[in-house]
Amino acid sequence: MIAADLYLDKIDFLAYLPQTDCQECGAVSCADFAKQLKRKIQTPSACTFLTESQIQAFLLAQHGDRILPQVPALDLPRPAFTGMVEINRPNESSLILISGNSEFTQEVLSTIMGYTLSSYWLFFVDCRGDTIDMAMIYESLKAEQIMIALEELPAHQRREIILPGFASPLKQPLERQVEWQVKVGPLCIAELPLFLGEDWQVPPDINLG
Ligand code: SF4
Repeated sequence: MIAADLYLDKIDFLAYLPQTDCQECGAVSCADFAKQLKRKIQTPSACTFLTESQIQAFLLAQHGDRILPQVPALDLPRPAFTGMVEINRPNESSLILISGNSEFTQEVLSTIMGYTLSSYWLFFVDCRGDTIDMAMIYESLKAEQIMIALEELPAHQRREIILPGFASPLKQPLERQVEWQVKVGPLCIAELPLFLGEDWQVPPDINLG
């Protein structure tokens, strides 16, 4: 099987480090430490300024290759479920996450969602079954479809939507249609726990090494 690119090499470890270059971890700079994390020759706990939940999020990113399922590279779209999924009993203050309706996108996203106790409204928007990177090339994911999908949302207070990284071109069209904050998430799903920060609560019993 030729596996799809999950863009693990795109994870931006440095963006989530304190960036004070204090060298207490033994690296010459935070950028150097980030490279060591990426190569798995250092553990995030070596930076003593990170909280326990940040350390767990770094570990998830570091070990994305063994956490995430291998999915085949697509030559044809694989349409799957379209609609809203409630993750961990969300309420009116839970974040809204947007994704597409590729079977493989859903498989990868469902896997990472197994590593959080936090609550989200997750929307699988119709993009004809393309993965998000392909959906942007083929223009099968559009702001209008996201708007239609969001009509399912019950009364909501937290006016914040997270788009997948590859869907960044949809940020401005969406912001013109909703008076909500639209944020662009990471390109790699294994970076999502780092990106969401306090909005990603890791279960206490996972052991990623
Ligand atoms: S200990 Fe943390 S803040 Fe200091 S250089 Fe290392 S990674 Fe950067």
